[in-house]
Amino acid sequence: MSFIAIDLDGTLLNGQNEISEENRKAIQYAQEQGFEVVISTGRAHFDAQTICNKAGISPYIIGTNGATIHSKDGKMLSSIPISKECVGSILKWLDERDFYYEVFTDKAIYSLKKKREHFYHEIQHLKIASLDSNQKKIAAEAERQFDQFGYVLVENYPDILKQEEEVFNIVVCSFDQKKLAEGWNRFDMVDELMVVSSGDHNIEITNKSASKGNALEKMALLMNGSLEKSMAIGDSNNDLSMFRKVGYSVAMENAKDDIKAVCTTTTLKNYDNGVAHAIYRFTENFALQK
Ligand code: CA
Repeated sequence: MSFIAIDLDGTLLNGQNEISEENRKAIQYAQEQGFEVVISTGRAHFDAQTICNKAGISPYIIGTNGATIHSKDGKMLSSIPISKECVGSILKWLDERDFYYEVFTDKAIYSLKKKREHFYHEIQHLKIASLDSNQKKIAAEAERQFDQFGYVLVENYPDILKQEEEVFNIVVCSFDQKKLAEGWNRFDMVDELMVVSSGDHNIEITNKSASKGNALEKMALLMNGSLEKSMAIGDSNNDLSMFRKVGYSVAMENAKDDIKAVCTTTTLKNYDNGVAHAIYRFTENFALQK
């Protein structure tokens, strides 16, 4: 059994945050050829599943950066939450420093109403007023936070802590790189936690044992699969863990150079159907090896 693990944002999704017909066909082709397609994303499972349903595909889903694994029919196979105690201290720290953040459970994405409005205005301002094209690009990337499904807006952070659901991922957003780095350093030194990033505007906090790579490894064990014969496609820091585990790693053309440098190869950009291109190249080569 070989896996094809595919990131969503900046990878499988195009500029409209959708799966193109070309990419959909390639995924279906790979499944017909006997490859197990796995969507591997920082997004919540319910959000990723909505996107897949819309495109008419049913893959396995590694969600919230590896903290959850769901089967093709939506059954949860594995989950690694952050402890309640730790969630409490993270939210308190973020709140005191006025960060915008989103808290992911298996039912919802919790966010503070006022901070969300403020962050939205900040994005619009940067998109229009910034003279720096890189800042404009980061602002446009940040805007996709508003495209996710399942938001529940609350007044303050104790409202989130009152929820009984387990927390899988906390996404922290800021356009202030120094402030973001401070958050990264603060949580990276906590034994229980893992910090990654899927864009220049965010850091993403999970349980230390949760990563896209660890989740893929768990699936390979469960399903007797070979990671050496598997491919992973992605575009950013939170994909590195799965790139390290597979035999064939593919960076998107739109990925940064440090991501491309660790991969076996590079494919086309996300809006040029880079995933479809990578799938056909991989399945052809794999067929030759068999
Ligand atoms: Ca991505």
